[in-house]
Amino acid sequence: MAFLPIGIRTRLGEVRYEIRGELAARAHELESQGQSLIKLNIGNPGAFGFRAPEHLQHAIADHMDGTDPYTHQQGLPAAREAVAAYYREQRGQQDITAERVYIGNGVSELIDISLRALLNPGDEVLLPSPDYPLWSAATILNDGRPVYYSCRPENGFQPDPEQMESLVSSRTRAIVLINPNNPTGAVYSRETLQAIVGIARRHGLMILADEIYDHITYDGAEFIPVATLCGDEVPCLSFGGLSKVHRACGWRVGWAALSGDSVRLSQYVRALNLLSALRLCANVPGQFAVQAALQGEDTITALCRPGGRLFEARAIVRDAVRQSPHMSLVTPMAAMYAFPSVVGAAGIGFDDHRFALELLERHSVLLAPGSSFNVPYRNHFRVTLLPPPEQLRVVFERIDALLHEYAER
Ligand code: PLP
Repeated sequence: MAFLPIGIRTRLGEVRYEIRGELAARAHELESQGQSLIKLNIGNPGAFGFRAPEHLQHAIADHMDGTDPYTHQQGLPAAREAVAAYYREQRGQQDITAERVYIGNGVSELIDISLRALLNPGDEVLLPSPDYPLWSAATILNDGRPVYYSCRPENGFQPDPEQMESLVSSRTRAIVLINPNNPTGAVYSRETLQAIVGIARRHGLMILADEIYDHITYDGAEFIPVATLCGDEVPCLSFGGLSKVHRACGWRVGWAALSGDSVRLSQYVRALNLLSALRLCANVPGQFAVQAALQGEDTITALCRPGGRLFEARAIVRDAVRQSPHMSLVTPMAAMYAFPSVVGAAGIGFDDHRFALELLERHSVLLAPGSSFNVPYRNHFRVTLLPPPEQLRVVFERIDALLHEYAER
């Protein structure tokens, strides 16, 4: 008897995650044929020789004795206490206690849980365009509908609160902020954040604040945790983790801290607790590093200052773009990416996917096409700032050479 093909969830057809998609698969193929590639598609610090700080490594090694039972579904008490103390003391979020902290297998898992707890079919979520595409994917897979607010390059990739408010409907449940932003490197101003909090207040919305890059800023750019502007009236779930600031992405540890009126949030809290319980707990060894990360010495700031690797990488990208007639860049003020656009003759009819594939196959450089980040235009690409300086220079020489060909075609 012949059986039907195994079916899949229909809405997966709407989901894309091109950072690890077809281009990455093609890269894998080329590598297996012996081609050596420079891969700038993933914000993966460890792959470029960045190491998690030693005191974090020791914290894990010191705790491992072979008996690591499941923890409480929200996470190890010591890790949650450390996150809560950090939010209270370093950010001034006085209402954060360990009971309001959830530790997850990376921020990724918590993004899914936060939306799964919130959304009913057809509910809308305001998402930035460009976004980090997991936010769109998790919205769709939890039966929601992404509604994009634009963060345009001509506006320094800042959101426009007026446009955001015009998108609010009776189905809107939450506003997602990615600040500092991946892929653009924008940091949102206090005025912008205040205006967004005002929208959430007027329409009874929750804010989901992905702040995983909170300490990775340049040139003194000020990062403002949005929850500090929310008061009790606007519920906010703030996300952070070990992956970027602490360069330990493979350990899969992130956290989320819930602020706002506890009576209003009681059902949501029960939902978060249930969903956390269903996946038992986050990776336990990684959780041992949380306290060390948040109470130990700062190891990221030096990388973001002159002489530091991320700072210098940003300067190389900025200079390469300035010297090229084919590219333009809003200088990233934070995070570990640059999101240049292709301009001039090279930009006419430009197709970011075709370009990325050609760059990969002919020049051995893998980057992420801009449209992977849910934008309606196709003339951007994203690179990470993680490669060593000499490699990044080579990358931009190759990009410029290919764009030169495009301009001549
Ligand atoms: N949020 C943003 C904005 C990211 O850029 C990433 C990873 O690149 C994540 C969340 C996922 O982080 P994690 O490693 O904690 O799952």
